[in-house]
Amino acid sequence: MRIGFGYDVHRFAEGRELWLGGIKIPHHKGLLGHSDADVLIHSVCDALLGAASLGDIGKHFPDTDPGYKGIDSKILLAETRNLVASAGYKIQNIDATIALQVPKIAPYIEMMQITLSRILEIEVGQISVKASTTERLGFEGREEGVSAYAVVLLEN
Ligand SMILES: [Zn+2]
Repeated sequence: MRIGFGYDVHRFAEGRELWLGGIKIPHHKGLLGHSDADVLIHSVCDALLGAASLGDIGKHFPDTDPGYKGIDSKILLAETRNLVASAGYKIQNIDATIALQVPKIAPYIEMMQITLSRILEIEVGQISVKASTTERLGFEGREEGVSAYAVVLLEN
């Protein structure tokens, strides 16, 4: 058994789409990044890579590579799944938390879990996604950005 932890942050920007957990969420701002800036997927990728001691998302998908510009993070997650599987690991479970003040994402959580489980080829019950506001404290609370945390358990 190997545990992994991932953390990511992206700032809000005008004129961007908001993608979280592979789902496009209606909002007047989106997250800024080289890819689609799906902060939840990025934290899950880092947790998976970390558990397998395979480095991090920046090592495998550098933001200096024009090939990853605007890329759908679901593709990065599928590639990460392949890397972890090639290293001989199977996903036991994933638990993730998104910290954001706005918008309300509760209606989208189940769809995120379904979407991520399909990409990772695991059961929906093996992935938990939660959301938390930060009580208006910090950059998330000031609606400047979104952070995400993920832990994953891999089995050899
Ligand atoms: Zn990111």
